[in-house]
Amino acid sequence: MNMTSRLSLILTASALTGAHALATPFSVDDAPGRLPKNVVPMSYSVTVEPDATAMTIKGHESIVLQVRTATNIIQFNSLNETLRDVRLDGKPARKVVSDDEAQLTTVTLPAPVRVGTHTLTFSYTGKIETQPHGLFAQAYASPGGEQRVLLSTQMEATDARRMFPCWDEPAFRAKFRLSATVPADWGVVSNMPIVKRVVKVKLATTTFETTPRMPSYLVELTAGEIAEISAKNDGTDFGVWAVRGLEKNGAMALADVQTILSDYNDYFGYRFPLPKLDSIAVPGGFQGAMENWGAITYNDQLLLLSSSSSIKNRQEAYSVQAHEMAHQWNGDLVTMAWWDDIWLNESFASWMAAKETDRRHPDWKWWEDQDSDKEGAMSADARATSHSIQQHVTNELQAANSFDPEITYSKGQAILRMFEAYLGPDVFRDGIRQYIKAFAFSNATTSNLWDALSAASKQDIGAIVAGWTEQAGFPLVSVAAACDAAGARTVTLSQQRFLLQGGDIKHATWKVPLQIRAGVDAVPQAVLLTQDNQSVSAGRCDEPLSVNAGALGFYRTHYDAATLAANTKNFGQLKDTDRIALLDDQWALVESGVDALPTYLALAASMGTDLDTRAWHQIAHALGSIEYDERGSSGHDAFSAYARNLLRPPFEQLGWSAKPDETPDVQDLRQTLIRQLGSLGDTGVIEEARKRFAAFLKDHGAIPPDYQDSILTIVAQYADAATFEQLRSIAAAAKDETEFRRFYQALMSVRDPALAKQATDIALSPQIPAQADALRLQLIARVAGEHQQLSWQVFRDNNERLLKPFAFEGPLIVAQYLPEAYWSGIPPADIEAWVRAHVPAEMSPNVDRGMETVRFRLAEKDRLVRAADAFDHQ
Ligand SMILES: [Zn+2]
Repeated sequence: MNMTSRLSLILTASALTGAHALATPFSVDDAPGRLPKNVVPMSYSVTVEPDATAMTIKGHESIVLQVRTATNIIQFNSLNETLRDVRLDGKPARKVVSDDEAQLTTVTLPAPVRVGTHTLTFSYTGKIETQPHGLFAQAYASPGGEQRVLLSTQMEATDARRMFPCWDEPAFRAKFRLSATVPADWGVVSNMPIVKRVVKVKLATTTFETTPRMPSYLVELTAGEIAEISAKNDGTDFGVWAVRGLEKNGAMALADVQTILSDYNDYFGYRFPLPKLDSIAVPGGFQGAMENWGAITYNDQLLLLSSSSSIKNRQEAYSVQAHEMAHQWNGDLVTMAWWDDIWLNESFASWMAAKETDRRHPDWKWWEDQDSDKEGAMSADARATSHSIQQHVTNELQAANSFDPEITYSKGQAILRMFEAYLGPDVFRDGIRQYIKAFAFSNATTSNLWDALSAASKQDIGAIVAGWTEQAGFPLVSVAAACDAAGARTVTLSQQRFLLQGGDIKHATWKVPLQIRAGVDAVPQAVLLTQDNQSVSAGRCDEPLSVNAGALGFYRTHYDAATLAANTKNFGQLKDTDRIALLDDQWALVESGVDALPTYLALAASMGTDLDTRAWHQIAHALGSIEYDERGSSGHDAFSAYARNLLRPPFEQLGWSAKPDETPDVQDLRQTLIRQLGSLGDTGVIEEARKRFAAFLKDHGAIPPDYQDSILTIVAQYADAATFEQLRSIAAAAKDETEFRRFYQALMSVRDPALAKQATDIALSPQIPAQADALRLQLIARVAGEHQQLSWQVFRDNNERLLKPFAFEGPLIVAQYLPEAYWSGIPPADIEAWVRAHVPAEMSPNVDRGMETVRFRLAEKDRLVRAADAFDHQ
């Protein structure tokens, strides 16, 4: 799964002995889980007739079961379903109890059934959901403006049981044969190709080929007024589906899916095992994308591209496709045994997607772009309340909360990248190939992956990596240099857990795969830091030093004053990646109070007119945070002027207009600088933005899509009532949803308080169509940037409606992200009281994380304001 918007029994990596043999095949008995394992499903035949008007499902199931120990009780998952005529091998059950609280159906048979194969049959009625879990109905306005409904599914993590009763845990792999009866003029898509279609008057029954053995959370069904564009390549059929009239916008996705599949067939050394792969653009409330085997669903904004799309839209579409397609192997072909190991799916898919995106689009500098996600993960993981990548899951809510964007996705991705660099890409790939081959059509655990990588590398990877996946946090590596008479340098390395505030009472340590580069161009030296005060010879004392060369590591570095001085002096010559690592670390050291603000600003000031995008992105972010904290303080204007002076030279170098040979990252840098200079009150940038906006009012071609977000945001920030009205009518007249989202987001940046109130009214109004319901929460969150009290009030008054599209992520959003969004304007006790009253008690660790961030931000603000006011801005 991919989400645009997260306990501790830990699986112990199996102890390895000399031969590093691959683990024995997976057995369902090894998987944790809630359902009994004495009866397991082998194959399902599921027939559904959804009624999108009555919002009901009529269904019938025939399930071939393997009874492993004689029993008169059969138990499986169900939710909101009523079962009728339940029979085993044709004989009626004695008693059937469906408990929606426990999400279980218990069938009691008249007599114990013998070990062996048996068939369970029943009819049932269920409901179509209005939120994206189970089979859901999505209302949308068609390209012609008519109100329509599309049916689609979202089963992960535990919602297949909402569409049909089943053994809804990932270890119960089974074959699925699905039939659906829907209006005859609808298109229907599922995991496998269609084998049969029977039309009866206005309804058609479509039967799909039987799937290979797979978990229930990957079952997919989409039905509605949809159409496809298609291609066949190297024996695989590809389709991109969208609501009729928009399928042509899938042309880029159709080309990309073929490229990515061919790359993955090669990387995994295992051909995509299904005959077809469909990509389905679902309008509306469904957020992100889902890797259903052979039938990936995407929020349509993540898959379809039009003349309104920007390079950012294009990059997001490619990387999300690459993520979901990586799951077709790691996730679908090989599935985690239980939700404890969900990180294996998500971290891997995120890492693989970044690798694939970088491979096919080197001029996007994708790993540099991903550095901002890594920083987000490090910031979340530098809290005392953070959690380990692997975490124990005992129920449905915890399973849903395991999809933590910072830790499960971004930290896991960074850890895999660090160990790929440590083992070398070829050895790492060989280990992955062994893992996929050994566990194809089966389940696996984290230790199985480490065993495969250990076998490929002939070293005990599990022992090295355990510290990174089984405990929270990451190390701060301290570097103390000593010079001999000839100037040769020896560094002494030590580590402690890095926390933004407070000390580490557990004294955690890690085996840290360092990449040490002494000098500007030297090839880095790989060093595994395993003991305190380990010393390494590292070039000469007058040369710069990077202990995280290539920015490949998930750790921070604290250099002694003399080494930091050498690095600052040579900053302009460093490799981009080493410079980024230094900026990231020095800013984090300032945030945590370890180093003083001028140490960071000295690095930022050394950038000059260098045009590295990620470095400037990092600097713009840091300067923006200080300016935000300084609002209302006497030093605000002086600091803003200082920040503008730092950002002006690279912007003047670039100018407003794109040069013909520019790469996308340089274009991105220009937009970052325009946006930040505008936000910091640069009068030249604001005037030019207004001039371009005036031209845009007459001709929408006057501002290309890549410039629209930054220019319209600046115009909105400083808008008066008349300008606000112009922006509002532009948004209302947007030609498609891509424009529409961009224009309304910009409108929410307005700084005038009375206009901001109007903006929140718009966010709640029918001007936002049904398929963009999820946008409302994003719009209200955007207002929080400038108007904390207003946004908080509107959120509280409308929380149920705003959260409705986020069935899956809702509890996490409230528990953790709400406090993080309102730290600067709402008293912490007020936020905490409201949040605790609105989430289940077991979400308490998430609330603790959100509240730790609130308290940290407030303390940091105090420190930064004093430091910025004391700083000599000349
Ligand atoms: Zn995913």
